[in-house]
Amino acid sequence: MTRLVILGGGVAGLSAWRRALALGCDVALVERCLRTGGLTRSIRVGGFVFDYTGHFLHLARTPHPGHLGAARGSWRKVARRAGCLVAGRVIPAPFQYHLGALPEPARSACVDGVQDLLARGAPVVPEPGEDLLSFFVRAFGAGVTDWFLRPYNEKLLATDLRSLNAARLNRFFPAPDPAAVRAGLVSGPGAAQGTGATYNATFWYPEDDGIGQLVDQLDPGLPHVPAEVTAVDLQRCVVLAGTRELPWDRLISTIPLPELLRACGGPWRGPADALTASGVVAFQLGVSGSPAPLLGDRHWLYVPDPDLAFFRVGCYSNVSACLAPRGCHSLYVEVGFSGAPPAPGPLADRVLTELVRAGLLADPGKVEVLLQHVIQPAYVRFDAGWDATAPAVLDRLAALGVHGAGRWGRWDYLGMEDVILEASSLVERVIGDPEGA
Ligand SMILES: Cc1cc2nc3c(=O)[nH]c(=O)nc-3n(C[C@H](O)[C@H](O)[C@H](O)COP(=O)(O)OP(=O)(O)OC[C@H]3O[C@@H](n4cnc5c(N)ncnc54)[C@H](O)[C@@H]3O)c2cc1C
Repeated sequence: MTRLVILGGGVAGLSAWRRALALGCDVALVERCLRTGGLTRSIRVGGFVFDYTGHFLHLARTPHPGHLGAARGSWRKVARRAGCLVAGRVIPAPFQYHLGALPEPARSACVDGVQDLLARGAPVVPEPGEDLLSFFVRAFGAGVTDWFLRPYNEKLLATDLRSLNAARLNRFFPAPDPAAVRAGLVSGPGAAQGTGATYNATFWYPEDDGIGQLVDQLDPGLPHVPAEVTAVDLQRCVVLAGTRELPWDRLISTIPLPELLRACGGPWRGPADALTASGVVAFQLGVSGSPAPLLGDRHWLYVPDPDLAFFRVGCYSNVSACLAPRGCHSLYVEVGFSGAPPAPGPLADRVLTELVRAGLLADPGKVEVLLQHVIQPAYVRFDAGWDATAPAVLDRLAALGVHGAGRWGRWDYLGMEDVILEASSLVERVIGDPEGA
């Protein structure tokens, strides 16, 4: 029987584990935390339920979340209520389809900038080798780039957008539909509400719980190996985790690819340094009273202003009232960084001050719970290092029976549905093909 070892117990690892058990495999899952679930866990503090920052299930290939693992609890399909906070005003998202609602001078700059694309008629696609910033200017116009795309993504990715490959990111930034841009030039009753579909226009969320319900659906309820993976011996086909040695015929790794490469040691360490990602400090706030009027009933706001530390602020309790005690609301606030995480105390002070300045928090004295988590890695950077390293190294590892899965194991920009489905089908390929998938 094929011995399978899975590294990492987030939703990707759990999905692989579940499938392997269903196929009758000899399988072990190694996870350094006592609780499985990775980034998809929920936390309960002081009557609030927080996720590890906003996690919303966008389904493109599955009819209902109940099809992902065992059916547990009930789910609700939600139409996104998102906005962009620009110069003190909230306009609906997507930004490029609501330019008429912008305050001046942003409105004139953005409208002037889209004249070329309106005349062109058809959306553009990235040129081979084109960098993300050049693509933004060509596809969305200079105004939309300067007022939204550049400052927002520089905060999220914490890097110079000229270093990123537009083609790899294009599915998240499809060039705008000229008809929807034209419709959005009108602000007021004729405005382009709901035009210009995006991948996240709807999402699913548990009816009575946080996103951690997804973990409960996937977790087979068996003990995992609770240890940190410290070494992977590719010659002996053994994983070292704590005091345990786990032999494998096939290995599925969902831990961050650079971490796996360093664990493999020797010549594998070099490629690890070529792979970079931004980090995110995620704040969770439980606040008494109603959300600030500027936030209203919205699920989240994109915040491009470079003078504000955060790039996104969301309201969990606007998604599901059960996530906060009666008379309270709950927020998540995301700050991107590069390199070492910023010092926690000063950053928390800055975030609270700037939430008030931006009109997103009425009174810091009403904050009952304030949590801070570092998510690192958070957003993989598709730069020259990625192009030169990630596909080749994943192929070389697969030839040795080591297969990357999940957002970090593939070192890609993947959501929960992608990683759950792909990890499950990877198990079928790996187990079904003893020569390797
Ligand atoms: C800021 C942010 C917002 C997001 N929002 C959404 C969203 O709204 N919708 C959506 O679909 N997706 C979203 N995602 C993506 C989503 O988080 C991922 O697709 C999903 O969580 C990936 O699951 P995973 O199992 O691949 O990784 P993880 O959940 O990160 O699991 C990896 C596991 O590996 C373990 N591990 C790591 N190193 C070791 C080691 N050396 N030894 C042992 N264990 C180890 C970790 O403890 C962790 O449990 C978001 C991601 C981020 C960063």
